[in-house]
Amino acid sequence: MSEYKDIWVFVEQREQKLMNVSLEILGEARRLADKKGVKACAVLVGYEVKGLAEELIKYGADVVYVIDHPLLKNYTTDAYTKVICDLANSLKPEVILYGATYIGRDLAPRIAARMRTGLTADCTALDIDENGLLLQIRPAFGGNLIATIICPERRPQMATIRPGVMKKALMDEGRRGEVIEIKPVIEEKDIRTEIISIIKEARQKVNLEEADIIVSGGRGVGGPEGFKLIEELAEVLGGVVGASRAAVEAGWISSDHQVGQTGKTVRPKLYIACGISGAIQHIAGMGGAKTIVAINKNPDAPIFKIADYGIVGDLFKVIPALIEEIKEA
Ligand code: FAD
Repeated sequence: MSEYKDIWVFVEQREQKLMNVSLEILGEARRLADKKGVKACAVLVGYEVKGLAEELIKYGADVVYVIDHPLLKNYTTDAYTKVICDLANSLKPEVILYGATYIGRDLAPRIAARMRTGLTADCTALDIDENGLLLQIRPAFGGNLIATIICPERRPQMATIRPGVMKKALMDEGRRGEVIEIKPVIEEKDIRTEIISIIKEARQKVNLEEADIIVSGGRGVGGPEGFKLIEELAEVLGGVVGASRAAVEAGWISSDHQVGQTGKTVRPKLYIACGISGAIQHIAGMGGAKTIVAINKNPDAPIFKIADYGIVGDLFKVIPALIEEIKEA
Protein backbone atom coordinates (compact mmCIF):
# COMPACT_ATOMS: atom_id res chain seq x y z
CA MET A 1 0.00 0.00 0.00
CA SER A 2 2.86 2.38 0.77
CA GLU A 3 3.86 2.34 -2.92
CA TYR A 4 0.71 4.32 -3.72
CA LYS A 5 0.95 8.09 -3.59
CA ASP A 6 -0.39 11.29 -5.11
CA ILE A 7 -3.90 12.44 -5.92
CA TRP A 8 -4.96 12.32 -9.55
CA VAL A 9 -7.77 14.12 -11.29
CA PHE A 10 -9.10 12.84 -14.61
CA VAL A 11 -9.48 16.03 -16.63
CA GLU A 12 -12.30 16.46 -19.13
CA GLN A 13 -12.06 18.77 -22.10
CA ARG A 14 -14.38 19.41 -24.99
CA GLU A 15 -12.90 20.73 -28.20
CA GLN A 16 -9.73 21.75 -26.39
CA LYS A 17 -11.54 23.64 -23.66
CA LEU A 18 -11.22 22.48 -20.04
CA MET A 19 -14.48 21.63 -18.32
CA ASN A 20 -15.29 23.55 -15.16
CA VAL A 21 -15.96 20.38 -13.17
CA SER A 22 -12.36 19.24 -13.69
CA LEU A 23 -11.02 22.56 -12.43
CA GLU A 24 -13.31 22.37 -9.40
CA ILE A 25 -12.02 18.88 -8.56
CA LEU A 26 -8.46 19.99 -9.17
CA GLY A 27 -8.97 22.78 -6.61
CA GLU A 28 -10.11 20.17 -4.08
CA ALA A 29 -7.28 17.76 -5.02
CA ARG A 30 -4.82 20.62 -4.36
CA ARG A 31 -6.29 21.09 -0.86
CA LEU A 32 -6.20 17.35 -0.08
CA ALA A 33 -2.69 16.92 -1.51
CA ASP A 34 -1.41 19.75 0.69
CA LYS A 35 -3.07 18.13 3.71
CA LYS A 36 -1.42 14.77 2.93
CA GLY A 37 1.88 16.20 1.73
CA VAL A 38 1.66 14.58 -1.72
CA LYS A 39 1.30 15.87 -5.29
CA ALA A 40 -1.92 16.87 -7.07
CA CYS A 41 -1.71 15.50 -10.60
CA ALA A 42 -3.95 16.11 -13.60
CA VAL A 43 -4.44 13.38 -16.20
CA LEU A 44 -5.27 14.99 -19.52
CA VAL A 45 -6.42 12.59 -22.23
CA GLY A 46 -7.29 13.47 -25.83
CA TYR A 47 -5.74 14.49 -29.13
CA GLU A 48 -3.75 17.68 -29.53
CA VAL A 49 -4.57 18.71 -25.99
CA LYS A 50 -1.07 19.41 -24.70
CA GLY A 51 -1.71 23.15 -24.95
CA LEU A 52 -4.09 22.87 -21.97
CA ALA A 53 -1.44 21.55 -19.58
CA GLU A 54 -0.13 24.97 -18.51
CA GLU A 55 -3.64 26.11 -17.60
CA LEU A 56 -4.00 23.06 -15.34
CA ILE A 57 -0.79 23.99 -13.56
CA LYS A 58 -2.10 27.51 -12.99
CA TYR A 59 -5.24 25.96 -11.48
CA GLY A 60 -3.26 23.87 -8.98
CA ALA A 61 -1.68 20.80 -10.63
CA ASP A 62 1.88 19.91 -9.61
CA VAL A 63 2.17 17.46 -12.50
CA VAL A 64 0.13 17.11 -15.69
CA TYR A 65 0.28 13.73 -17.44
CA VAL A 66 -0.66 14.31 -21.07
CA ILE A 67 -1.87 11.22 -22.90
CA ASP A 68 -2.23 12.40 -26.46
CA HIS A 69 -3.11 10.15 -29.42
CA PRO A 70 -5.39 10.37 -32.50
CA LEU A 71 -7.37 7.37 -31.21
CA LEU A 72 -8.18 9.37 -28.06
CA LYS A 73 -9.69 12.32 -29.92
CA ASN A 74 -13.22 11.31 -28.95
CA TYR A 75 -14.09 9.60 -25.69
CA THR A 76 -14.52 5.83 -25.91
CA THR A 77 -14.79 3.68 -22.81
CA ASP A 78 -12.31 1.09 -24.10
CA ALA A 79 -9.53 3.46 -25.09
CA TYR A 80 -9.74 5.79 -22.09
CA THR A 81 -9.98 2.87 -19.64
CA LYS A 82 -6.92 1.24 -21.17
CA VAL A 83 -4.63 4.25 -21.21
CA ILE A 84 -5.57 5.40 -17.70
CA CYS A 85 -5.25 1.90 -16.21
CA ASP A 86 -1.86 1.45 -17.91
CA LEU A 87 -0.62 4.71 -16.40
CA ALA A 88 -2.13 4.07 -12.97
CA ASN A 89 -0.68 0.53 -12.86
CA SER A 90 2.76 1.91 -13.50
CA LEU A 91 2.67 5.09 -11.35
CA LYS A 92 0.32 3.90 -8.58
CA PRO A 93 -1.75 6.91 -7.54
CA GLU A 94 -3.34 6.70 -4.12
CA VAL A 95 -6.52 8.48 -5.23
CA ILE A 96 -8.20 9.09 -8.61
CA LEU A 97 -11.06 11.60 -8.82
CA TYR A 98 -13.50 12.08 -11.70
CA GLY A 99 -16.39 14.44 -12.42
CA ALA A 100 -19.82 12.83 -12.06
CA THR A 101 -20.50 13.66 -15.71
CA TYR A 102 -21.71 11.34 -18.47
CA ILE A 103 -18.09 10.47 -19.20
CA GLY A 104 -16.90 10.22 -15.58
CA ARG A 105 -19.88 8.05 -14.64
CA ASP A 106 -19.06 5.70 -17.51
CA LEU A 107 -15.29 5.65 -17.14
CA ALA A 108 -14.77 5.45 -13.37
CA PRO A 109 -16.68 2.15 -12.83
CA ARG A 110 -14.77 0.52 -15.70
CA ILE A 111 -11.45 1.57 -14.24
CA ALA A 112 -12.55 0.49 -10.75
CA ALA A 113 -13.48 -2.96 -12.06
CA ARG A 114 -10.27 -3.28 -14.09
CA MET A 115 -8.10 -2.27 -11.12
CA ARG A 116 -10.20 -4.26 -8.64
CA THR A 117 -10.77 -1.31 -6.38
CA GLY A 118 -13.80 0.52 -4.96
CA LEU A 119 -15.63 3.57 -6.21
CA THR A 120 -17.97 6.03 -4.50
CA ALA A 121 -20.28 7.71 -6.99
CA ASP A 122 -21.64 11.25 -6.78
CA CYS A 123 -19.67 12.59 -3.81
CA THR A 124 -20.53 16.04 -2.53
CA ALA A 125 -17.50 16.42 -0.22
CA LEU A 126 -14.10 14.83 0.37
CA ASP A 127 -11.56 14.88 3.15
CA ILE A 128 -8.56 13.01 4.53
CA ASP A 129 -8.78 11.28 7.92
CA GLU A 130 -6.04 10.97 10.55
CA ASN A 131 -4.77 7.75 8.90
CA GLY A 132 -4.49 9.43 5.54
CA LEU A 133 -7.56 7.65 4.10
CA LEU A 134 -9.83 9.46 1.66
CA LEU A 135 -13.23 10.23 3.21
CA GLN A 136 -15.80 10.04 0.42
CA ILE A 137 -18.92 11.88 1.51
CA ARG A 138 -22.31 11.71 -0.21
CA PRO A 139 -26.05 11.77 0.58
CA ALA A 140 -27.62 8.33 1.06
CA PHE A 141 -31.09 6.88 1.65
CA GLY A 142 -32.86 9.50 -0.42
CA GLY A 143 -30.83 12.31 1.13
CA ASN A 144 -31.96 11.49 4.66
CA LEU A 145 -28.43 10.92 5.86
CA ILE A 146 -24.92 11.78 4.80
CA ALA A 147 -22.66 8.74 4.40
CA THR A 148 -18.89 8.83 4.78
CA ILE A 149 -17.38 5.99 2.77
CA ILE A 150 -13.80 4.72 2.93
CA CYS A 151 -11.86 2.22 0.86
CA PRO A 152 -9.30 0.87 3.35
CA GLU A 153 -7.96 -2.19 1.56
CA ARG A 154 -7.73 -1.42 -2.14
CA ARG A 155 -5.90 1.18 -4.17
CA PRO A 156 -6.42 3.58 -5.83
CA GLN A 157 -9.26 5.07 -3.79
CA MET A 158 -11.72 6.41 -6.34
CA ALA A 159 -14.69 8.77 -6.37
CA THR A 160 -16.81 10.71 -8.82
CA ILE A 161 -17.70 14.24 -7.69
CA ARG A 162 -20.81 16.18 -8.58
CA PRO A 163 -20.28 19.24 -10.74
CA GLY A 164 -20.78 22.51 -8.89
CA VAL A 165 -20.15 21.32 -5.33
CA MET A 166 -16.47 22.24 -5.08
CA LYS A 167 -14.82 25.57 -5.60
CA LYS A 168 -12.39 26.10 -8.44
CA ALA A 169 -8.96 27.18 -7.20
CA LEU A 170 -8.03 30.73 -8.06
CA MET A 171 -5.84 30.89 -11.15
CA ASP A 172 -2.22 31.60 -10.21
CA GLU A 173 -0.26 32.79 -13.23
CA GLY A 174 3.01 32.30 -11.39
CA ARG A 175 2.53 28.62 -10.47
CA ARG A 176 5.12 26.19 -11.76
CA GLY A 177 4.63 22.48 -12.45
CA GLU A 178 5.75 19.61 -14.57
CA VAL A 179 4.22 18.44 -17.85
CA ILE A 180 4.94 14.79 -18.62
CA GLU A 181 3.98 13.40 -22.01
CA ILE A 182 2.96 9.76 -21.95
CA LYS A 183 3.13 7.63 -25.10
CA PRO A 184 0.04 5.46 -24.85
CA VAL A 185 -0.01 1.92 -26.21
CA ILE A 186 -3.32 1.89 -28.02
CA GLU A 187 -4.47 0.33 -31.27
CA GLU A 188 -7.71 0.37 -33.21
CA LYS A 189 -8.40 -3.23 -32.23
CA ASP A 190 -8.52 -2.18 -28.55
CA ILE A 191 -11.63 -0.07 -29.24
CA ARG A 192 -14.88 -1.92 -29.76
CA THR A 193 -17.01 1.09 -30.58
CA GLU A 194 -16.80 3.30 -33.61
CA ILE A 195 -17.99 6.92 -33.55
CA ILE A 196 -19.66 7.56 -36.88
CA SER A 197 -20.66 11.15 -36.28
CA ILE A 198 -21.18 13.58 -33.42
CA ILE A 199 -24.41 15.54 -33.50
CA LYS A 200 -24.46 18.60 -31.29
CA GLU A 201 -27.62 19.32 -29.36
CA ALA A 202 -29.37 22.05 -31.29
CA ARG A 203 -31.09 23.71 -28.35
CA GLN A 204 -29.06 25.73 -25.93
CA LYS A 205 -28.13 23.78 -22.86
CA VAL A 206 -29.24 25.20 -19.54
CA ASN A 207 -26.14 26.28 -17.70
CA LEU A 208 -27.54 26.24 -14.19
CA GLU A 209 -24.22 25.47 -12.53
CA GLU A 210 -22.66 28.71 -13.71
CA ALA A 211 -25.68 31.00 -13.35
CA ASP A 212 -25.58 33.88 -10.86
CA ILE A 213 -29.37 34.12 -10.67
CA ILE A 214 -31.80 31.18 -10.76
CA VAL A 215 -35.58 31.38 -10.59
CA SER A 216 -36.99 27.92 -9.89
CA GLY A 217 -40.52 26.63 -10.11
CA GLY A 218 -42.10 23.70 -8.32
CA ARG A 219 -45.41 21.90 -8.19
CA GLY A 220 -47.02 25.12 -6.99
CA VAL A 221 -46.48 26.59 -10.46
CA GLY A 222 -49.35 24.37 -11.53
CA GLY A 223 -48.38 23.48 -15.10
CA PRO A 224 -46.33 24.43 -18.17
CA GLU A 225 -48.30 27.68 -18.49
CA GLY A 226 -47.17 28.68 -14.99
CA PHE A 227 -43.55 28.22 -16.04
CA LYS A 228 -43.99 31.10 -18.53
CA LEU A 229 -44.25 33.36 -15.47
CA ILE A 230 -41.09 31.82 -13.98
CA GLU A 231 -39.30 32.37 -17.32
CA GLU A 232 -40.44 35.97 -17.42
CA LEU A 233 -39.10 36.67 -13.93
CA ALA A 234 -35.80 34.94 -14.81
CA GLU A 235 -35.56 37.03 -17.94
CA VAL A 236 -36.07 40.42 -16.29
CA LEU A 237 -33.44 39.47 -13.69
CA GLY A 238 -30.99 38.13 -16.30
CA GLY A 239 -31.15 34.66 -14.73
CA VAL A 240 -31.98 31.11 -15.78
CA VAL A 241 -34.88 28.80 -14.94
CA GLY A 242 -34.57 25.92 -12.49
CA ALA A 243 -37.17 23.43 -11.30
CA SER A 244 -38.00 20.92 -8.61
CA ARG A 245 -38.24 17.26 -9.45
CA ALA A 246 -42.01 17.36 -9.00
CA ALA A 247 -42.26 19.90 -11.85
CA VAL A 248 -39.88 17.87 -14.03
CA GLU A 249 -41.71 14.61 -13.36
CA ALA A 250 -45.02 16.27 -14.20
CA GLY A 251 -43.52 17.00 -17.63
CA TRP A 252 -43.84 20.79 -17.27
CA ILE A 253 -40.15 21.42 -17.94
CA SER A 254 -37.20 19.33 -19.16
CA SER A 255 -34.94 17.47 -16.74
CA ASP A 256 -31.85 19.60 -17.48
CA HIS A 257 -33.55 22.29 -15.34
CA GLN A 258 -33.83 20.06 -12.26
CA VAL A 259 -32.07 21.25 -9.13
CA GLY A 260 -31.40 18.87 -6.25
CA GLN A 261 -29.98 15.60 -5.19
CA THR A 262 -30.76 13.89 -8.47
CA GLY A 263 -30.56 17.10 -10.47
CA LYS A 264 -27.92 19.79 -10.52
CA THR A 265 -26.05 21.33 -7.62
CA VAL A 266 -26.07 25.10 -7.95
CA ARG A 267 -24.41 27.97 -6.11
CA PRO A 268 -25.93 31.16 -7.52
CA LYS A 269 -25.77 34.55 -5.86
CA LEU A 270 -29.59 34.61 -5.86
CA TYR A 271 -32.01 31.65 -5.85
CA ILE A 272 -35.74 32.34 -5.99
CA ALA A 273 -37.85 29.28 -5.14
CA CYS A 274 -41.44 29.66 -6.37
CA GLY A 275 -44.05 27.13 -5.28
CA ILE A 276 -41.36 24.77 -3.97
CA SER A 277 -41.93 23.18 -0.55
CA GLY A 278 -38.22 22.75 0.32
CA ALA A 279 -37.80 18.98 0.49
CA ILE A 280 -34.37 17.88 1.71
CA GLN A 281 -33.56 16.49 -1.74
CA HIS A 282 -34.21 19.88 -3.31
CA ILE A 283 -32.21 21.75 -0.68
CA ALA A 284 -29.28 19.35 -1.30
CA GLY A 285 -28.88 21.06 -4.67
CA MET A 286 -29.40 24.73 -3.81
CA GLY A 287 -28.63 25.16 -0.09
CA GLY A 288 -25.27 26.72 -1.03
CA ALA A 289 -26.89 29.70 -2.79
CA LYS A 290 -25.76 33.02 -1.36
CA THR A 291 -29.24 34.52 -1.00
CA ILE A 292 -32.42 32.44 -1.05
CA VAL A 293 -35.85 33.97 -1.62
CA ALA A 294 -38.93 31.76 -1.22
CA ILE A 295 -42.43 32.46 -2.52
CA ASN A 296 -44.96 30.02 -1.11
CA LYS A 297 -48.58 30.29 -0.02
CA ASN A 298 -48.03 27.95 2.93
CA PRO A 299 -46.34 29.81 5.82
CA ASP A 300 -45.19 26.47 7.27
CA ALA A 301 -43.41 25.31 4.11
CA PRO A 302 -39.92 24.03 5.08
CA ILE A 303 -38.29 26.24 2.43
CA PHE A 304 -38.84 29.23 4.74
CA LYS A 305 -36.42 27.66 7.26
CA ILE A 306 -33.50 28.16 4.89
CA ALA A 307 -34.74 31.27 3.06
CA ASP A 308 -33.10 34.64 3.67
CA TYR A 309 -36.29 36.36 2.48
CA GLY A 310 -39.71 34.73 2.52
CA ILE A 311 -42.89 35.91 0.79
CA VAL A 312 -46.04 34.14 1.97
CA GLY A 313 -48.50 34.47 -0.88
CA ASP A 314 -49.85 33.18 -4.15
CA LEU A 315 -47.05 33.16 -6.71
CA PHE A 316 -49.50 34.13 -9.45
CA LYS A 317 -50.00 37.44 -7.65
CA VAL A 318 -46.50 37.92 -6.21
CA ILE A 319 -44.45 37.23 -9.37
CA PRO A 320 -46.32 39.64 -11.72
CA ALA A 321 -45.97 42.35 -9.05
CA LEU A 322 -42.24 41.61 -8.75
CA ILE A 323 -41.77 41.72 -12.53
CA GLU A 324 -43.53 45.04 -12.71
CA GLU A 325 -41.38 46.51 -9.91
CA ILE A 326 -38.16 45.26 -11.50
CA LYS A 327 -39.11 46.63 -14.90
CA GLU A 328 -39.81 50.02 -13.38
CA ALA A 329 -36.59 50.09 -11.36
P1 FAD B 1 -44.35 20.02 -3.35
O1 FAD B 1 -43.61 19.39 -2.24
O2 FAD B 1 -45.66 19.44 -3.71
O3 FAD B 1 -44.52 21.56 -2.97
C1 FAD B 1 -45.28 22.46 -3.69
C2 FAD B 1 -45.31 23.75 -2.91
O4 FAD B 1 -45.95 24.76 -3.66
C3 FAD B 1 -46.06 23.65 -1.58
O5 FAD B 1 -45.20 24.08 -0.53
C4 FAD B 1 -47.23 24.60 -1.75
O6 FAD B 1 -47.57 25.29 -0.54
C5 FAD B 1 -46.73 25.56 -2.77
N1 FAD B 1 -47.79 26.20 -3.60
C6 FAD B 1 -48.84 25.60 -4.22
N2 FAD B 1 -49.51 26.50 -4.94
C7 FAD B 1 -48.92 27.70 -4.75
C8 FAD B 1 -49.16 29.01 -5.24
N3 FAD B 1 -50.17 29.29 -6.09
N4 FAD B 1 -48.34 30.00 -4.83
C9 FAD B 1 -47.30 29.77 -3.99
N5 FAD B 1 -47.02 28.54 -3.51
C10 FAD B 1 -47.81 27.51 -3.90
N6 FAD B 1 -36.70 16.90 -5.59
C11 FAD B 1 -36.06 17.90 -6.21
O7 FAD B 1 -36.57 19.03 -6.30
N7 FAD B 1 -34.82 17.67 -6.76
C12 FAD B 1 -34.20 16.48 -6.71
O8 FAD B 1 -33.10 16.33 -7.25
C13 FAD B 1 -34.87 15.40 -6.03
N8 FAD B 1 -34.27 14.20 -5.90
C14 FAD B 1 -34.91 13.22 -5.18
C15 FAD B 1 -34.26 11.98 -4.96
C16 FAD B 1 -34.89 11.01 -4.23
C17 FAD B 1 -34.16 9.71 -4.00
C18 FAD B 1 -36.18 11.24 -3.70
C19 FAD B 1 -36.87 10.18 -2.88
C20 FAD B 1 -36.83 12.42 -3.92
C21 FAD B 1 -36.22 13.44 -4.66
N9 FAD B 1 -36.84 14.66 -4.89
C22 FAD B 1 -36.15 15.66 -5.51
C23 FAD B 1 -38.28 14.88 -4.58
C24 FAD B 1 -38.51 15.64 -3.30
O9 FAD B 1 -38.58 14.71 -2.22
C25 FAD B 1 -39.86 16.39 -3.36
O10 FAD B 1 -40.88 15.47 -3.66
C26 FAD B 1 -39.88 17.50 -4.41
O11 FAD B 1 -38.75 18.32 -4.27
C27 FAD B 1 -41.16 18.30 -4.23
O12 FAD B 1 -41.24 19.27 -5.22
P2 FAD B 1 -42.04 20.61 -4.98
O13 FAD B 1 -41.48 21.34 -3.82
O14 FAD B 1 -42.10 21.31 -6.29
O15 FAD B 1 -43.51 20.05 -4.70
